[in-house]
Amino acid sequence: APLVAIIGRPNVGKSTLFNRLVGRREAIVEDKPGVTRDRLYGVGSWEGRHFLLVDTGGVDPSLDTGLPGDIRSQAEVAIEEADLILFVLDALEGATTVDFEIAAHLRRSGKPVLVAANKADSDRRELAAAALHELGLGEVHPISAAHGRNVGDFCDALLERLPAATEVAPVPIPPGTRLAFIGRPNAGKSTLINTLMREQRVIVSEQPGTTRDPIYLPFKYKDRDLVLTDTAGLRRRKQVARAMEKLAAIKSIRTMERTQVVVLVIDATEGVTDQDQRLARMAFIRGKGVVVALHKWDRVTKDAKLARDRLRHTQESLAFLERPWIVKTSVVGEGRDRGEGRSFNLDELLDASVRTAAALQKRIPTAALNQELQAAVADHSPPMWRAKPVRLYFATQADSEPPLIVISANHGRCLGPDYERYLIRRIRTRWHLRGIPVRLVVRGRGR
Ligand code: GDP
Repeated sequence: APLVAIIGRPNVGKSTLFNRLVGRREAIVEDKPGVTRDRLYGVGSWEGRHFLLVDTGGVDPSLDTGLPGDIRSQAEVAIEEADLILFVLDALEGATTVDFEIAAHLRRSGKPVLVAANKADSDRRELAAAALHELGLGEVHPISAAHGRNVGDFCDALLERLPAATEVAPVPIPPGTRLAFIGRPNAGKSTLINTLMREQRVIVSEQPGTTRDPIYLPFKYKDRDLVLTDTAGLRRRKQVARAMEKLAAIKSIRTMERTQVVVLVIDATEGVTDQDQRLARMAFIRGKGVVVALHKWDRVTKDAKLARDRLRHTQESLAFLERPWIVKTSVVGEGRDRGEGRSFNLDELLDASVRTAAALQKRIPTAALNQELQAAVADHSPPMWRAKPVRLYFATQADSEPPLIVISANHGRCLGPDYERYLIRRIRTRWHLRGIPVRLVVRGRGR
């Protein structure tokens, strides 16, 4: 789906517009209980067309200072990523210096921009909004995000500016296991990618397409075909403000969709953060395998206690990944950003990725699966259902990547989450399914 970014000064009503466009639809970022749901990305739709919407405002409360510098970094990232930019102005206040600065950026970018003059709640204010043409970004749409006034027309205009879905031919995917480095800005992704490319002699050839296309870099590792999956531009951009990490997550989502194994790069000097957990969950929800690189390990080894704590905390806070491979990595020395430093444990990281991919693609033989099911039932019988014992007849693996186990029973949905978890745990343990999601469905027979 095309990416639409809302940018503008604080308090012009960006989030109100965001909520109006996304409505009650699910926010993309998270759907697990216990994790704060932020409404920064969502899927907007109009007339049956969907677009990914990101609200660049409110990313970090400290950003909302109105400082032009911060606004500029927001604008830069948004401009680079987005297919269309919604530039929101305040019809009451008119154009400020900051607005002119943003407008100048937008004009230079050459990206399609749609200008909304928000808070145009009345005819009089609509007229006032006309003055905003002076920004030189074309037609200004007076809207009221809060009241819905003119929002329909605005959405029509939005659709007109969106790139057609079929504009770019899809990039062919080379054969092999696809892995991608995902993580927060500054975790060390580029360093790892550059080092890997250098050590594995990955040849980067120019690929056609836009900067937002995925790029696939095939290489051989121990006689296996691996494909480094990346989003163009990742290695180029250095100046992404820390505050923009959530927008950077959009990039992660896009890369994630194209990969099989996600190498989650954790900055060991900081440890696992909420955003890391969120990225990991996103990967799992999408059926990806996850390998953890506990990176910059060189910086915690001097302190043995810190190192121990970091490792334990990583295991604990990512426990929902079901014993993922956690590999301590580092790249140290001169020119490490360019991949010229000395690397530590990169082979182990690739080995772990290969193992995780194998788990993801595992085909469990039906006979063995049923033996395990019988053994599991013998060790710990299923709960009763409506005062009758539940019978589990037969198990089969219906799908892989990730594995889907289907069990037929005398009743569907009768096992309860605890017992289902128990069965999944048995299967995971027996077949070493680490760092991957395993799905289980219980189907009833008859009534
Ligand atoms: P990205 O934003 O995730 O791509 O992160 P970068 O690869 O740009 O790295 C961020 C910073 O961490 C840079 O200053 C790197 O030099 C530094 N860095 C990367 N890897 C390591 C490492 O293993 N050890 C140490 N000490 N620093 C690292």
